[in-house]
Amino acid sequence: MAKLAQDDRAVEIHITGIVQGVGFRPHVYKSATSLGLDGWVINTTAGVTIRLEGAAQSITKFVEQLHKNPPPLSRIETFMVRDVEPEGFSAFFIHESKNVSDTDISIPPDVGTCPDCLREYRDLSDRRNGYPFTNCVNCGPRFSITRAVPYDRKNTSMQAFEMCGDCSAEYIEPMDRRFHAEPNACPVCGPRLALTLPDGTPLAGDMRGLLKEGRILAIKGIGGYHLVCDALNARAVQILRERKQRQTKPFALMCRDLETVRMHCELSVEEEKFLISPARPILLLKRKPTSLLCKEIAPGLDTLGVMLPYTPLHYGLFDENLSILVMTSANISGDPLIINEDDAYAYLGKLADAFVVHNRKIVNRVDDSVVMLFRQKPYPVRRSRGFVPQGIKLSFNLPSVFAAGGDLKSVFAYANKSKAVLSQYFGDLDNLKNLDAYQDGVKFFSGFLKIKPEKVVCDLHPDYISAGFAARYAAGLDVPLIKVQHHKAHFASAMADNNLNERVLGVVCDGTGYGEDSSIWGFEFFYGNYSNIERVGSLRPFPQPRGDGVVKNPLHMAAVLLYALWEDKDKVLAVLPNSAQLLPYAKAQAKSGTLSIASSSCGRLFDVAAALCGFTGKVTYEGEAAMRMESLAHQATGVRTYAYDIFEDDILRISWDFIGEMAEDRLRGTKPPILAARFHQTIAAAICSAVERLAARYKTNKVVFSGGTFQNRFVANRLAESLLEAGIEVYFHGQVPTNDSGIALGQLLIAASRAEENK
Ligand code: ZN
Ligand code: ZN
Ligand code: FE
Repeated sequence: MAKLAQDDRAVEIHITGIVQGVGFRPHVYKSATSLGLDGWVINTTAGVTIRLEGAAQSITKFVEQLHKNPPPLSRIETFMVRDVEPEGFSAFFIHESKNVSDTDISIPPDVGTCPDCLREYRDLSDRRNGYPFTNCVNCGPRFSITRAVPYDRKNTSMQAFEMCGDCSAEYIEPMDRRFHAEPNACPVCGPRLALTLPDGTPLAGDMRGLLKEGRILAIKGIGGYHLVCDALNARAVQILRERKQRQTKPFALMCRDLETVRMHCELSVEEEKFLISPARPILLLKRKPTSLLCKEIAPGLDTLGVMLPYTPLHYGLFDENLSILVMTSANISGDPLIINEDDAYAYLGKLADAFVVHNRKIVNRVDDSVVMLFRQKPYPVRRSRGFVPQGIKLSFNLPSVFAAGGDLKSVFAYANKSKAVLSQYFGDLDNLKNLDAYQDGVKFFSGFLKIKPEKVVCDLHPDYISAGFAARYAAGLDVPLIKVQHHKAHFASAMADNNLNERVLGVVCDGTGYGEDSSIWGFEFFYGNYSNIERVGSLRPFPQPRGDGVVKNPLHMAAVLLYALWEDKDKVLAVLPNSAQLLPYAKAQAKSGTLSIASSSCGRLFDVAAALCGFTGKVTYEGEAAMRMESLAHQATGVRTYAYDIFEDDILRISWDFIGEMAEDRLRGTKPPILAARFHQTIAAAICSAVERLAARYKTNKVVFSGGTFQNRFVANRLAESLLEAGIEVYFHGQVPTNDSGIALGQLLIAASRAEENK
């Protein structure tokens, strides 16, 4: 055993968190050698272990530095230092990791191009100048190209490309930015881009030239294809809408730089941080009235979904005359995002004028993530590229559970010790291709996490496709299947998202969910914790016509509700002049029974209000009526609230009678923005009063919010302001979406807390 000098020290440091595939070891190497420390660093099954020997002062400094300035993409969760016997090393080594295969979560999410790579891409003298697949240990594709663990080149679609001498040298040099950068590539050895016609034949010319001519391009990106055109060319945008047969659903945009974003949108400092973050999500920003973008980008909305380029290929789409592009997922409406050339040519041939393809295979389909900022914090709408498969940290360990999620905006999840690992977004499962993608996803996640669930959990809805899948999965594994009511899962999801374990109140508002009494729920108040959730309040149920038709027709829902309220055809007709044809049906449906079902859906109440604000057309995407209403409401200020009534029934109920006052308000000729603002304020005020009452009753001052309705920042803001003023702590989502793609998280927690049951 080597002897150390008097003030020398030897330590072993264990670090867990996101510390692999993020340049951690080279970072440690540089730091240790610059401080004159000897020893080694190695990836282990649990994270990273570092052995250090040398001056005690230097070791202290090393620890300080690593804490303060860890590698940019890493996230340290635990950091343990213990003194050990010195072994007398004479240098610092990076050891090859032997077995990292059963590491926690060893596949990193995809990362947007880093500043160093962008510099090289733009540097005329660099060997990677203009190379669209430039990446390094700090950026590039990850999850989207990975077939299996461990995350090594041979397990990614980069296996097909043998590194050239220069790239290999970077890959094995500890001091290099590309040390163990698995997708490392250059123009000599890496993937290649090709511009083609829709029949696959090569096309001379350039991408920017075509975009400037107003052409539509299908471009292969990180997690799938996009359809792209010049967003400032109204004609091109119009053609894209027609060809895609997408009526009003907003298009996402990609901006050349932050300056361009600021030309079209309000952008706060916090929002800016998120736009340039490594995940590079689409951010929902408030549109500036001065923006020259045509209305067809986002009809009826005051927001725009904007992202920045996240691969060198994207940077190459812009120049001084091309600053903002429509970048919409390339799929046939409702189908999964297209990821390979065969499907692209087959399905997009009539949509795109030209194709930008490449020969790096997309293994895992992953949509762009969508985020907004709420109270200066991230508020996810769709959690996919850049986030998946990163786990959500929980404050305790869970048994192995699989949660199927819901049928709309589907996302499944696995519990993996102290983490919940949520899948990427798969869309609506009533589409068979989406179900196929979802099932492939289950195979992939269970494989890479090496999990055999002890329990399977799904929604209570008897007709949910996800529930059917869960039943087959549980039967195949011979484990119990647990069913969790939709809104209780929302409630638990918001608790877990905020690391709450004690009993709290919850408000869950959304479009629809199957209730425990077989009615439709959707405007619910709960009290409890994961193991015991009690429904303590709701909107007073109204009759909702059976079937899906009404969901797409706000006018119909409005006619039914007003008829139920007034039982006066002429009065309903006066408020809703174009409801004449619907009225005979509405009259029959205005009672719960064979034609209608009792419903406390918040989404349908928003539909009614939207119809009263003049939105009487058909809804072409989920949440459209509510989103348009919110945009309207933002145009009015300082309006009054309608009188609302809260009463005690079997549980606390909020009456929806104020819809009658709103209808009369409309009859008096009040303008839609004022109607919309009054409605929003009434909803917020009623929720606040109910929460205050329940908080006093259950002696708690914590309330969580979940459900798609709370994507409405007008309502959410009012709620947060009033409740905080009343001394109540409010908790909204921050890591998983507040809509149905977040419920798998809640399902996990509830299932884990339930004793064995098999129903
Ligand atoms: Zn990079
Ligand atoms: Zn190379
Ligand atoms: Fe929901």
